[in-house]
Amino acid sequence: MNILSFPILRLLTDGKFHSGEDIAAHFKTSRATVWNAIQNAEALGVEVFSVRGRGYKLPQPITLLDETTILNAIGEQRSWFKLEVHDHLESTNSYLMKKASAGEAHATCVAANLQTKGRGRRGRQWQAGLGASLTFSLLWRFQCGASALSGLSLAVGVALIRTLHEFGIKQAQLKWPNDVLIGGEKLAGILIELQGDMEGPSAAVIGIGINLNLPSKIKQQIDQPATDLNRVAAAINPNALLGVLLKHLAEVLNNFEQAGFAQVRDEWLKYHAYHQKPVRMLHPDGRETSGTAIDVAEDGILLVKTSLGEQRFSSGEISLRGDL
Ligand code: ATP
Repeated sequence: MNILSFPILRLLTDGKFHSGEDIAAHFKTSRATVWNAIQNAEALGVEVFSVRGRGYKLPQPITLLDETTILNAIGEQRSWFKLEVHDHLESTNSYLMKKASAGEAHATCVAANLQTKGRGRRGRQWQAGLGASLTFSLLWRFQCGASALSGLSLAVGVALIRTLHEFGIKQAQLKWPNDVLIGGEKLAGILIELQGDMEGPSAAVIGIGINLNLPSKIKQQIDQPATDLNRVAAAINPNALLGVLLKHLAEVLNNFEQAGFAQVRDEWLKYHAYHQKPVRMLHPDGRETSGTAIDVAEDGILLVKTSLGEQRFSSGEISLRGDL
């Protein structure tokens, strides 16, 4: 990103018009340089209104991430975390995976105001935008091996539900293995990437994207129904949201190390959008298995009752779709 782009965007977070002249004077530069920096931000997908005679503005005011506010929202456990807030990263997971292999500390959280190449599972994309989403990754190191982490994305879903409850959002549900839904539409996604030995120790980079206020331009790029927090709650401060979520993640992940997914399994089932409902399980080779989701095992495996009997699905390659 152009060195001036983010400082200018920071100035525009009030959602008001700022003339090119004022911005140029503020940064002791030329109007052409300001224009260039804004072009550069637009090329990264940031929407900036530009009106002749009035200047530049963002479509609406936005709250940027702020380290101190996040740490305060974590509360007592703030000292457990190492926090990095970036203006722009292509992918918080890719960035933290690299740092993890270079020995980065346990409980490092990397958040980005603007993530431009977010990833989903198996090469899929995660769409995000400035002020539109909360995007971050958390590195968590485990004594156990990667093979014991099979239910981790489900446990992380429980931390997300607890967090949303704290903000008064009670209607969120989980979709096996790694999504949070509201009214059947996707609010948040979880991407977990593992490092280390099957026998241990291991490390997980837990990437989370939560939609705060998706502009239609971003929504159009998503090939499934998506929703955002703005539709269900009065303006939620992303710093408070991240802080409270880190607090819940710390609790869930510490317990996971001791007792695995088993300790939150009942809670997870309570919020599973498709519990006892008809589902289609999509295999990577294009096959589909239809049935009813009847249970989840202590290692996160989904049990589906089909015409051929009970089948078990592990999360790696399989996608669940509601059979409506
Ligand atoms: P699965 O059920 O296998 O998890 P998925 O389609 O939810 O399937 P993920 O890899 O979890 O796949 O997430 C990536 C997908 O999420 C994208 O392919 C897109 O359909 C959707 N998506 C991308 N960005 C967003 C977003 N900001 N909000 C909601 N959904 C999104």
